[in-house]
Amino acid sequence: MSFTPSELPYAKAALEPYISARTLEFHHGKHYKTYVDNLNKLVSGSQLADMTLEEIIKHCAGKQELSAIFNNAAQAWNHEFFWQSMRPNGGGEPTPKLKQKIERDFKSLAKFKEEFKAAALSQFGSGWAWLVEDESGILKVIKTSNADTPLAHGLKAIITLDVWEHAYYLDYQNRRGDFADAFLEHLVNW
Ligand code: MN
Repeated sequence: MSFTPSELPYAKAALEPYISARTLEFHHGKHYKTYVDNLNKLVSGSQLADMTLEEIIKHCAGKQELSAIFNNAAQAWNHEFFWQSMRPNGGGEPTPKLKQKIERDFKSLAKFKEEFKAAALSQFGSGWAWLVEDESGILKVIKTSNADTPLAHGLKAIITLDVWEHAYYLDYQNRRGDFADAFLEHLVNW
């Protein structure tokens, strides 16, 4: 068995002007595809080839000798989650149930956005900003480095923003904060 890159859930130009078709051509068509291709090469012929992405991530997390497999599997999963975290004409209000939880755990939607943007901005180098739910159902904002993923830490991902430079450099150059604002105001798929 091998993994197949998932299709984007919208057309490549559908997130313009906030994310260009050109960015998605590279991001989905090259960067993401490379993680899936590398994962297939790395697990080919091993018992890992019959596992799901989630099982591979959990199996390989924290094991130095399996870090290449972890990195490619986690990046495949993180990107698939990221594609789903956005939609054309996104942003606006969360669903009522999520909004209630956000207000309970962050005081307000505005405070949540502030904290999420701060996580995106303060992630030094490559990584991800996340809204997650912990084991007791509490919402938290976290950031992870490189390929690291909430799945490996027993946390349930709700929303993610890719803050690797390849996610925004063609459209925003060094302005990661503007990319985070555009995500929160116009793209996020609650
Ligand atoms: Mn990426």
